[in-house]
Amino acid sequence: MASIFTKIIKGEIPCYKIAENEQFFAFLDINPVQKGHCLVIPKKEVDYIFDLTEQEYIDLQLFARQIALALQAAIPCKKVATTVVGLEVPHVHIHLVPLQTLPFINFAAPRTAMSAQELKDTAQLIAGHLI
Ligand code: AMP
Repeated sequence: MASIFTKIIKGEIPCYKIAENEQFFAFLDINPVQKGHCLVIPKKEVDYIFDLTEQEYIDLQLFARQIALALQAAIPCKKVATTVVGLEVPHVHIHLVPLQTLPFINFAAPRTAMSAQELKDTAQLIAGHLI
């Protein structure tokens, strides 16, 4: 069965999209740890990041870097944290989270409530800073 992220890529499930190219896709986490929390994924459905080929891994990181630069330009923060967890969704995803202090990336803490409109505006804001 296709992963929930494959369904998002195919447009079968809605998302707050930021960018895509032939190989990769970036969108907002629906349940963000902070405003601007992005997920960057390969379109190829692979569960574990280190099962990607070397080239796929490098290209994914390069795509994530473009999103991180746009995210940092869009949302004031000290740095953008890049994290891979993958315990919930078995489809490779890099979390990008705007960071002020360490607790900003506490994945176990209650998530940040955001309305659909806020998520839509945030995705557009980040997309608008892509180079
Ligand atoms: P993990 O697999 O532990 O790295 O966590 C999966 C992440 O995917 C969580 O932060 C979820 O909030 C997020 N997530 C799950 N379903 C969706 C969805 N339909 N759209 C956007 N983000 C999602």
